[in-house]
Amino acid sequence: MNPPHAVIAGAGIGGLCTALCLARAGWRVSLFEKAKVLDETGAGLQLSPNASAILRRLGVLVHLAPFALAPEAIKIRRARDGATLARMPLDGAEARWGAPYLALHRADLQRALLEAVAHEDGIRLQAGAAVAGFASGKDGVAVAIAHGAVRLKEAGDCLIGADGLRSFVRQRFCDDHLRFSGRTAWRTTIEADRVPAAMRRQETNLWLGRKAHLVHYPLRGGTLVNVVAIVDEDFRPDDDEFWSSPGEAKFLEARFARWDKTARDLLRAAAEWRKWPLADRDPIARFVSGRVALIGDAAHPMLPFLAQGAAQAIEDASVLGEVLAHGKNIEASLLGYQEARLARAARVQKESRRQAAIYHLGGPAALLRDTALRALGPEKMLARYDWLYDARDVNAR
Ligand SMILES: Cc1cc2nc3c(=O)[nH]c(=O)nc-3n(C[C@H](O)[C@H](O)[C@H](O)COP(=O)(O)OP(=O)(O)OC[C@H]3O[C@@H](n4cnc5c(N)ncnc54)[C@H](O)[C@@H]3O)c2cc1C
Repeated sequence: MNPPHAVIAGAGIGGLCTALCLARAGWRVSLFEKAKVLDETGAGLQLSPNASAILRRLGVLVHLAPFALAPEAIKIRRARDGATLARMPLDGAEARWGAPYLALHRADLQRALLEAVAHEDGIRLQAGAAVAGFASGKDGVAVAIAHGAVRLKEAGDCLIGADGLRSFVRQRFCDDHLRFSGRTAWRTTIEADRVPAAMRRQETNLWLGRKAHLVHYPLRGGTLVNVVAIVDEDFRPDDDEFWSSPGEAKFLEARFARWDKTARDLLRAAAEWRKWPLADRDPIARFVSGRVALIGDAAHPMLPFLAQGAAQAIEDASVLGEVLAHGKNIEASLLGYQEARLARAARVQKESRRQAAIYHLGGPAALLRDTALRALGPEKMLARYDWLYDARDVNAR
């Protein structure tokens, strides 16, 4: 009997992981990527245990080992003077949550996934080919692919929309628009030897200031430092402006002028910045329609304040692999995926949003927050993330 055939739109982290999970579950996979070249750009990613466990199961984590770093802790600091408000130790991540907490470059993760995909006979990856239409029937899906000026047709047993924030596939599920969150993320990576020694420690630093926060952590064996500055900004991008663009260092200098000198020195060490207007959407009521399913940013785009966008896409992929391996009835299996993922993904979306408001407090509210953080202690800090990071049985949720 021929294996079932999945068509996937988008070869980002979500699409690549889904292709791997389905191939391991005995599926044939056609993976179509709109971009002509799979760009190995981007910046740092924090990979929490709920995601690293899945990559380990897929045999990908071992290839990331030379590039990934395990931060010893997340340190929360006050913008004004750099005082440590709280420290969440991460050296016990494996014991507590069942897998490591890692920091790595997105390009390294993408490369490792592409290599794993290339080793699977059952996966065909075509770049420069966009999913441009589809129809879901009782027995399968018919998918139109735009390959330059040529239109091709692909028949499959299901279509997975892994096509990101501006998903084409999602348009058939709802007609919501991307909403600007009022915040922009400024990202850069800096050669470690250009950064003050105190900023190169193997830990993730989260600085909290009024209407802004700053995250930095080392990457690639400590040779690079990844920096993300997130600021409230009063500008209104249109739907087609949610792309990254070069950022002016002067803007950041002005916005962080009253921050502790260590933070300002770090920002000054950057050779260039790219800024992203951060887009947000509300959780939706379904991820599945007939034989079509959404995953990753296409299903549940989220603000990056819990560092979970890629992790949740990886969880989606894992659950899809699980339900489709067992289910003969594809539509029912996809509904099983939806049931397993809808509430959790919505919770992570909402918590990420809530986190944003807490991070950017000012005045007396910030004082209260800082006092509460100081009182927490490491065990209570860790316990706050158990629901999110626990890797044991991600698929059973
Ligand atoms: C500042 C910032 C920091 C972040 N930090 C973290 C972090 O630390 N940890 C974490 O887990 N996440 C983080 N994220 C989120 C994470 O980067 C994304 O959530 C994740 O990459 C989404 O993966 P995806 O595969 O769903 O979508 P994408 O990576 O967007 O991939 C979608 C792919 O689909 C392709 N495509 C689009 N349309 C079509 C079409 N019609 N046909 C075929 N292909 C198509 C696109 O070209 C693209 O390659 C961060 C995000 C930001 C902005």
